[in-house]
Amino acid sequence: MSTQSIAQSIESLVEYCDRIIEEPGFAAAVAWKNAAPNRATIGCFPVYTPVEVFYASGVLPVGLAGGGNRMEIAHADSRFQSFICSIVKSTLEQGMTDLLEPLDGLVFHSICDPARNLASVYARNFPETPVEYIHFPQNFEAEESPRYLRDEYARVATFASGLSGREMTTDDLRAAIALYNRVRETIRRLYALRRDAPHRLRTRELYPLVRVGHLIPPEEHAELLADALHAAATREGRERDRIRVVLTGSFCEQPPLDLIAAIEDAGCYLVDDDFLLGRRWFTENIPANVTDPLLALADGYINASLPTPVKHDMRVSPSELLVERARSHRADAVIVLCAKFCEPSLFAYPLYRKALQEAGIPHLFLEFEEKMWMFDRVKSEIETFVESLLFD
Ligand code: SF4
Repeated sequence: MSTQSIAQSIESLVEYCDRIIEEPGFAAAVAWKNAAPNRATIGCFPVYTPVEVFYASGVLPVGLAGGGNRMEIAHADSRFQSFICSIVKSTLEQGMTDLLEPLDGLVFHSICDPARNLASVYARNFPETPVEYIHFPQNFEAEESPRYLRDEYARVATFASGLSGREMTTDDLRAAIALYNRVRETIRRLYALRRDAPHRLRTRELYPLVRVGHLIPPEEHAELLADALHAAATREGRERDRIRVVLTGSFCEQPPLDLIAAIEDAGCYLVDDDFLLGRRWFTENIPANVTDPLLALADGYINASLPTPVKHDMRVSPSELLVERARSHRADAVIVLCAKFCEPSLFAYPLYRKALQEAGIPHLFLEFEEKMWMFDRVKSEIETFVESLLFD
């Protein structure tokens, strides 16, 4: 379905996104691939992938977001230790149950040890699947970092061309950057709208609008987001007595959608979050019409991307940034929502806690895993927290 030409309400757009997200099999990506020669698809493990490089090479980047709460882990347990986050196991399980079969390859990155191990475990278990691994720079201060990453992206472009049979040109890359800029810019505007008028756009609605971009071509996503922005901006809505909350900690593995809804239903307006960070990675548009767009992309990674504990940017303090974010979003509180056994987010938490306490910003720490079904207990916990702030 194209969202073109139909006057869309937020409800109908969200329903459309929910349907695509629920559907197994990557149908939209497969249809895109079959519509023209020299096309392929690639599964991208979170957090960030240079999607432009793949798209410009004729490869549709599909976001991997774990197995959700319907997936039984029957095979992947035997390949990993017990104390590991859900998304690592469920991604391998998806491979072992042929659910990733429609994809022509997979790409992983240097975000943490489990993701690093997953890349090699996957390659060893599926030697016939092309697997690529991107080494992002660990030193943001070195003068050579943008040039190093630029060359890493050039290597990735060669890999992508091998999948599609089509070589990337500089103009292809410029066009892809411009297209993804359009997507990200509209997402930034939707996030700003939710910050300013959260009663007009719930996070339970914004989330699927962004997440569907993992599964459909970027042209379609850009249109859908533009429709959503128009619908949300003109939507009637009544402000409710809720606390304004900044949520952090869910930058890689994604919490169940029902948990996001439960947080809102417990009396919170989520006015900022770090869900699905990779699709909205840059804080500003990447210059497309430059001599070396690969270098512009690399420079954006180093100098114009959102903070996250898996980026290791020593020039900034993530906890100070969190306090700043809470203040700039006029938040009453912060919820730190971490995936169980996610070391990068759990290591960041003590620093967040100290900084938030010193700044006098109340916070609540919660953990989740993909296989959560019941949200009553966590909802009561959040309700108690909200009441303690509302009736203080
Ligand atoms: S959820 Fe955390 S530990 Fe797991 S792969 Fe992502 S960043 Fe690594």
